[in-house]
Amino acid sequence: MRYTAALLLILAPQAQAQVAIETEPARPSRGSLIRLHVTPTITDLVSGIQGEIDEEPLHFTSSNGGITWEGLAPVPVEGGDSLPILLVLLHSRGSDTVRTAIAVTQPTYPSERLSVAPRMAEPDSAGRVRIARDIARARAVSRAAHGTEQLWEGGFRLPRTSRVTSAFGTGREYNGKVTSRHLGTDFNGRVGDPIVATNRGRVALVARFYLAGNVIYLDHGGGLISAYFHVSRSLVRIGDVVEKGQLIGRVGQTGRVTGPHLHWVMRYGGVTLDPMSVLSLLGRDSVQSQR
Ligand SMILES: [Zn+2]
Repeated sequence: MRYTAALLLILAPQAQAQVAIETEPARPSRGSLIRLHVTPTITDLVSGIQGEIDEEPLHFTSSNGGITWEGLAPVPVEGGDSLPILLVLLHSRGSDTVRTAIAVTQPTYPSERLSVAPRMAEPDSAGRVRIARDIARARAVSRAAHGTEQLWEGGFRLPRTSRVTSAFGTGREYNGKVTSRHLGTDFNGRVGDPIVATNRGRVALVARFYLAGNVIYLDHGGGLISAYFHVSRSLVRIGDVVEKGQLIGRVGQTGRVTGPHLHWVMRYGGVTLDPMSVLSLLGRDSVQSQR
């Protein structure tokens, strides 16, 4: 394997359960997708590991009869320099609960100023109701990805070949006030330019959102979701299974935008992560240019 990591030995006093955890990458940063390698050090043979980070379930598998276990995990953008992890080791005598944490670093994000009409910067009550409903719908389909078998395969690819115009995490200043962080990666594009699926997945949502405009959500399974915002046209329907690289929609300028572009989102369950961290961890597929 290509990871190296400091070994953390954790003792849960009440259960005497021990695990060693390695992370990939070795120094995880906030806002990224990581992989956990868990080695139980108890004498009983472990038949399964369940876990949770930030209330998101972890999905561990073992390829060597329970000696080591691995699973993807989210490091939410917000939080301190330590990420709490809950693990439950299942074995012949029952189960042991381990509460532990890993050290995470905080990236420094740039900030950018945007000027938009006050109506859009401060949604009215009807707008706020719509936004809340949109968030609830997005959260529901994202959480549902935990119950979907893994559909993604190999590395992920970029949804567009064009220039990145705004990176993940950039602080957003609307009318002189920092109101939000940019929780996606923006790609340059003209209305009608192609958007392709970043990996194999099932279309989980095609909808019109207040801020994000026309959206497409793909459920890749195993907790992974990708989403494509501000599209002018969706070329897929809910329930369709799309292949990596398949044309799914067209760039647009729907929702709260200052011009046409694609806003690409990656999530682990309800946690939004830097899409580029997913490519770093799982591999980046080469991209053929498409029009
Ligand atoms: Zn964006």
